[in-house]
Amino acid sequence: MTTPTPLIAGNWKMNGTGPALSEARAIAAGAPTAGVRVALCPAATLVERMATALAGAPVEIGGQDCHSQASGAFTGDVSAEMLREAGATLVILGHSERRAGHGETDEQVAAKVEAALQAGLEPIICVGETRAEREAGRALAVVTDQVRASLPGSLTGKAFTVAYEPVWAIGTGLTPSLDDITEVHQAIRATLVEMFGPAGAAPAILYGGSVKPNNAAEILALPEVGGALVGGASLKASEFLAIVAGTPGV
Ligand code: PEP
Repeated sequence: MTTPTPLIAGNWKMNGTGPALSEARAIAAGAPTAGVRVALCPAATLVERMATALAGAPVEIGGQDCHSQASGAFTGDVSAEMLREAGATLVILGHSERRAGHGETDEQVAAKVEAALQAGLEPIICVGETRAEREAGRALAVVTDQVRASLPGSLTGKAFTVAYEPVWAIGTGLTPSLDDITEVHQAIRATLVEMFGPAGAAPAILYGGSVKPNNAAEILALPEVGGALVGGASLKASEFLAIVAGTPGV
């Protein structure tokens, strides 16, 4: 089984209007053409414009969420097919801000993963424990349970990525110890192999939560860390490209 190409994905969250495309263009201009996949996941309103602006550049475009249904009376929602048509090839699903802020369950995340696959999008499926769960010694159990329940069997043979994002590390400047990151990533890998057999060795497992230029290289060098999901630092081309440059082999 070959090692997955690392993926560094920027999650712009609810940030950015037209002028922010200049940062995306700067990221595209500095993105390596080999050894790493670089992706940007802007708000739904920017997906099409960013895909057009970066056409031909070594940057993939992703959505930040999609509905589990292909169409229908779901005011305010966006379907996977709509994202695909707008130029996305990836979609973040089950981000903790969706799980906490919108009450998304593992079952709903799994249904969204199915919808993404139907539309030809590669899902980036987020899991992670809260601070209380870590302090209670339950981080591994919580994360591996989320992996089992959020990843449908239909992912077998499909391209997908899992992102380990401790809730308490997102946007806080806090990160787990390197040993703790390794421990969780190894547990996720073991769970993927348990679920998908040898094919469970293929998907990259990203780390997310306060990845910055000053800590990226040491995190990205850890065993089973196959890239990063980056929030705040992905909004500035110089910071995001410095994180990309920290990928081993780049
Ligand atoms: C995120 O929202 O996925 C994230 C990792 O945010 P930040 O890098 O800002 O902690």
